[in-house]
Amino acid sequence: MTVQESQTLAAPAPVEPVSLPGIVANGRLFINGAWQESAGGARTSVMNPATGQEVATVSSAVTADVDAAVAAAKASVNDGRWSRLSGRERSRVLNKAAAIIRERAEELALVESSDVGKPITFARVVDVATAADQYEYVAAMAQQLDGSVRETPLAAHAFTKREPLGVVAAITPFNFPLILSSTKIAAALAAGNSVVHKPASDTPLSALLMAEILTEAGVPAGVFNVVTGSGGALGDHLVAHPDVNKVAFTGSTEIGSHVAALAGANLKPVTAELGGNAANILFADADLEKAIGTVIGAFVFNSGQFCMGGPRLLVERPIYETVLGILKEAVAGVPVGDPTDPATVMGPLASQKQLDKVAGYVEGAKAAGGQVVVGGETLELNGGFFYKPTVIAGLGNDAAAVQEEVFGPVLTVQPFDTEEEAIQLANSTPYGLAAGLQTSSISRAHRVSAQLEAGIVWVNAWALLDPAVPFGGVKNSGWGREYGPESLESYCRTKSVVIATD
Ligand code: NAP
Repeated sequence: MTVQESQTLAAPAPVEPVSLPGIVANGRLFINGAWQESAGGARTSVMNPATGQEVATVSSAVTADVDAAVAAAKASVNDGRWSRLSGRERSRVLNKAAAIIRERAEELALVESSDVGKPITFARVVDVATAADQYEYVAAMAQQLDGSVRETPLAAHAFTKREPLGVVAAITPFNFPLILSSTKIAAALAAGNSVVHKPASDTPLSALLMAEILTEAGVPAGVFNVVTGSGGALGDHLVAHPDVNKVAFTGSTEIGSHVAALAGANLKPVTAELGGNAANILFADADLEKAIGTVIGAFVFNSGQFCMGGPRLLVERPIYETVLGILKEAVAGVPVGDPTDPATVMGPLASQKQLDKVAGYVEGAKAAGGQVVVGGETLELNGGFFYKPTVIAGLGNDAAAVQEEVFGPVLTVQPFDTEEEAIQLANSTPYGLAAGLQTSSISRAHRVSAQLEAGIVWVNAWALLDPAVPFGGVKNSGWGREYGPESLESYCRTKSVVIATD
């Protein structure tokens, strides 16, 4: 289902209790192929955002657990149980992982939905399906990590090889736990690395199920490890650990900048997929009916907790009032509610913290002169962290809700008069992850997309993503690319071998 199609779904039904798979309910660390409690013995609650109730508890790792996980990963690198398999052998295992993800799709979707508050429909057709696609895509590439022979005047045979980096620390945010961990883990494993994964504290559950799935697929003990626990307590230790060879981080610009500095000080490569605040430019020549569906999907998908969402709508002035009128009615009709109901399009925010943050931005926008076109308040439902999809007009470009990453179901709408002004407004925040434009002019599509400061630009669409198409940030949205061959490249290094022939 596309985000546009999702707009036509009907209203939701009440919440049913959730029963999680055993390995998830046990909530232990996965180190060296074994499930274990943290050395510190403490556990942390994981909440179901749709009810505000505890859905599981997980072990809170301490630095000794990080050391054990890194040691297990390093031992697996050293003895070559994974790193020295052929690409074809690794490919078979990763393809099997993709097949098991598909077989266990309902379990994964249920876990992801009850952990993050995602509508079950999207958890199935977006999160789980994308994770399986990612494993399949990199499995094919694992077989093609070739070097090349270099022609030189030396009396020598010179060639290059692609080698894994060693131990990869994969640190992920709360909003797309399964997809964003798979992005890193699949690519790292395909290239022959071993991984220590630290998922977000608020949404650690699918990482545990993936440990079981990867083991069942044939990933040897020690090659994939999961430590659940607080990034504040564990993060610096993991990032600076002398036996970690690369850091793959997705999260906020603030923490990403700290992680990149620490990795840099320790001379480790880092990919940093950070915050976003994309503009969606709606030109008067666009197919308005289709564009409105795209606009709404782009800001309500995943309750707006989408780094590549479209929270800033720029509308060409002749259609500005018309668009506000359509949005007022259409956004009020988005089905918000119980994520387990297949008809739900938007669930709760992932945590009370997120809810408070979003509500704070909306109050700030009102105080700054913004007019709430629709929404603008919490939704009291089953004790969950719900906020109504919200549209705000009349804000200046310097308002916090325009310039900063709200990360909730909030759309700001600004008019523009010329193409140049639209581009200037679109590029006016510190972020540069995604951008989009809706237009019927192919010339304009080329002209404008070339000038937008973003790692990915969508034309007459939003969030069309695929493991073959790279994404990543410019400016404060970070560096490095995930997806595509570019992703695998960042998990390898080149070795040159020069053999004298005389
Ligand atoms: P976050 O607060 O930056 O946390 C991200 C991860 O970093 C979590 O696992 C967190 O652990 C961990 N962490 C915290 N302190 C750390 C430290 N000192 N060292 C190492 N790791 C540390 O981000 P979030 O709130 O979970 O996620 C939302 C943000 O992610 C938004 O800004 C969003 O735009 C961004 N995002 C970007 C992309 C992209 O592809 N560019 C995709 C998705 C999300 P704890 O959870 O335990 O604090």
